[in-house]
Amino acid sequence: MKGNMSANVFYEKERMDFTQLPIPQPGENEVLIRVKACGICGSDIAYYYGSSPLETTDGKGPLIIGHEICGEVAEVGREVERKGYFKPGDRVTVNPPQPCNVCANCRKTKVNLCEHTRTVGVSVNGGFAEYVKVNYANVFRLPDGVGYEEGAMAEPLACACYGVKNLDVKTGDTVVVIGAGAVGLMMAQLIRIRGAGRVIVTATRDYPLHKALEVGADAVFNTVDPSSGYYTFDIREAVAQINGGMPADKVIVATAAKKAYADAFHVSGKGSTIVFFGLPGEKDIIEVPALETLTGDKTLKFSWLAPFTWDEAIKVLSLGKLKLKPLITHTFSLDRAREGIEFMHSGKKEKIKGMIVL
Ligand SMILES: [Zn+2]
Ligand SMILES: [Zn+2]
Repeated sequence: MKGNMSANVFYEKERMDFTQLPIPQPGENEVLIRVKACGICGSDIAYYYGSSPLETTDGKGPLIIGHEICGEVAEVGREVERKGYFKPGDRVTVNPPQPCNVCANCRKTKVNLCEHTRTVGVSVNGGFAEYVKVNYANVFRLPDGVGYEEGAMAEPLACACYGVKNLDVKTGDTVVVIGAGAVGLMMAQLIRIRGAGRVIVTATRDYPLHKALEVGADAVFNTVDPSSGYYTFDIREAVAQINGGMPADKVIVATAAKKAYADAFHVSGKGSTIVFFGLPGEKDIIEVPALETLTGDKTLKFSWLAPFTWDEAIKVLSLGKLKLKPLITHTFSLDRAREGIEFMHSGKKEKIKGMIVL
């Protein structure tokens, strides 16, 4: 496709320009997508404020960031056309990491650990633009009836699916989700679908806890703010009170903070599983109460990206069982991407998920 497009190019800490660039030309294995919605991820905020390097050769821009992409196929490469996988007009969403499929980790099917991955919006140009090109293997068709904004939630949803898969929820389990951002609130719903008996969500602000109740949590607790009606000083005690005196069977930590880590160990019972999902800072340490964890025979797991959970995420979207719209609290036009990032970073309390909508 010929011509120019509007795009937000990120250069360095707090410098991103709204500008005109040539529309990218899809290679023979690529699909050109007209972006309709692109979520603002916590990692986009980290890149913008320079607290996390890009995965480019030198860790820097210029790069169009944005990896939670949903849109319409505008053009396909020769090979894509020959195989008949996608055609112009198809509504699609994008799995951003493009693994090399050759490194030792890829060969062992650990594609989320690829040594040479090229991630859309992180190492190659992404979705804060009118168009983006992506390898066809990373493109997924959007189910009928799923809107573009919900479609842009597919990426964090696929990651949530992997975290919840690692949690190994059994029918009737009492599960605590620590952290009520968009991912935590999707996890709470996935955990319910998997047959948990009780789903309890904790957070440090009330607004996301209201949302947690709206999307089906059984109980919510604010673990830091004594002025909150949901406040508890002792999360283990609070859970025991509504759970027949027992602590949690499963805990998933959808945030990264000292208090969250401590709560995870404190609220989990003997034989429990804890999954750490939220992205910590480079220097963060998880302190494990050694004796209690060992003699409790607890299982600790970690969760990174979304290896082979995209099928599940798309299926969940098509079933329409998740409440995603209440999580999208703020939308911004393409020319206001910078403002959107700055807003999502601000101290404003009443927000969950921000999104660029075209
Ligand atoms: Zn993301
Ligand atoms: Zn690889």
